[in-house]
Amino acid sequence: MTQELQIELNGVDKHYGAFHALKDIQLAIPKGAFVALVGPSGCGKSTLLRSIAGLETISGGEMKITDEVVNNVPPRHRDVAMVFQSYALYPHMTVIDNLTYSLRLKKTPKAEARKIAEEVAATIGLENLLDRFPRELSGGQRQRVAMGRAIVRRPKVFLFDEPLSNLDASLRVHMRKEIRALHDRLGATSVYVTHDQIEAMTMADHVVVMRAGVIEQQGAPLELYDRPASQFVAGFIGSPAMNFVDGVTNADGTAVTLEIDGAPELKLPRQVACNQKVTVGLRPEHLSISAAGQGTITTKISVIESTGSTTYVGAGDTGKITIVLSERRDISVGDTIDLSINAKDIHLFDPHSQMAI
Ligand code: ATP
Repeated sequence: MTQELQIELNGVDKHYGAFHALKDIQLAIPKGAFVALVGPSGCGKSTLLRSIAGLETISGGEMKITDEVVNNVPPRHRDVAMVFQSYALYPHMTVIDNLTYSLRLKKTPKAEARKIAEEVAATIGLENLLDRFPRELSGGQRQRVAMGRAIVRRPKVFLFDEPLSNLDASLRVHMRKEIRALHDRLGATSVYVTHDQIEAMTMADHVVVMRAGVIEQQGAPLELYDRPASQFVAGFIGSPAMNFVDGVTNADGTAVTLEIDGAPELKLPRQVACNQKVTVGLRPEHLSISAAGQGTITTKISVIESTGSTTYVGAGDTGKITIVLSERRDISVGDTIDLSINAKDIHLFDPHSQMAI
C-alpha cells in the first residue's frame, strides 16, 4: 500500500452546543486503504464520517482530502460518496434511473450515463434488475443499488455508514466480502462505520476504535487483538469478550494471584511491578480445559452453550469466566474442571487508569 495520504485529520474537534462529540482526532488514511471506525453507540463514529463527507462542519482542527484543506468545502466538491444503511434510494425511480441520477445532474449525455450505469450494474450483479423499482428488490439488492449509485460517481473516497445493519446475518457476511472485493477492484479509499467489531476486523486494513469522542486506539486488526492498549479496547475487540479478573502480582513480579476461589497463581510472560493490584485479561479462546488437578485455575462449569461448531462454557459461580472450545468435549454443568493458559496470552491492565501494563 502506498503511503500517499488520501484523508488527513489533524486535531479535529466537533461540538454540538455544549456537547463535545469529537475530541482532538488525529487520523491519516493512505490512498487505497480500507479503514473501519468502530465503537459503542454514541462514541462519535457517524459524526466523524459525516464530518469527512462535509455533512457536518467541524468546530476545530484541520481536515484534508488529497492534500486540499476541506474544512469549508461543501460536500459536493469533496469528491466523496456516501453509502447509508437506509439505502436512500429514490422510490419512484427504477434501478437504472437511480444509478444514472448523479450523472444526469452533472449533465452527462443520456447515452453515456446509461453506458456507465450499465457497466457498474454488471460489476455488482444488477444487470438483470435495471427496470425494477426499489420496492421490487430484496434488501441485499437495494444495498447493491446504493453502492452502485456511489460507484458511478467514481469518487476518490467511499464513506459507508453501517451499510449492512438492515440485512440478515448470512447476507451481511456475503455483502462484507462483496464490498471489500469491490473496494480492491476499484482501487478506492474507503472509510466504513460499524458498531460490529467482527465486521471491522474482517473488512479493514486499519481499525480505529472510538470511545466518547476520542480515538482510543488505532492499528491493524490483529495488532488491536494482540496488543490492546486499554481494557476498553481489549473488551471491545474479540468475541466473546475478554474475561477480566482482579489479581495481585507476587513479591518478585513474575506471577499474578487471581482473586477468585482457590487463589490460583499464573506465571507472567515478563516481570512487572511487584505486589501490585492488576486486572488480568484472559481471552476465552486462550483458555483450555484440562482434567481436575492438571491445570492452574480450578473451577466449576455453570453454563454450557453449543452452536454445533463452537461451545461456550461459563465457569465460576456466575459464569464469570467464559471459555470457547472449537472441539466437542464430554463436559456437563456442575463438573469441576481445571483451566490453563499460556503465559504469553495473559494481558494485564492497571485497575485505576485501565491502561495496559
Ligand atoms: P451510533 O452507533 O448509535 O450511530 P455513533 O457512534 O455513530 O453512534 P454519533 O451519531 O456520531 O454516534 O453521535 C455522537 C454523539 O453526538 C452522541 O452522543 C449523539 O447524541 C451526539 N449528537 C449527534 N448528532 C447531534 C446533534 N445534531 N446535536 C446534538 N448532539 C448530537
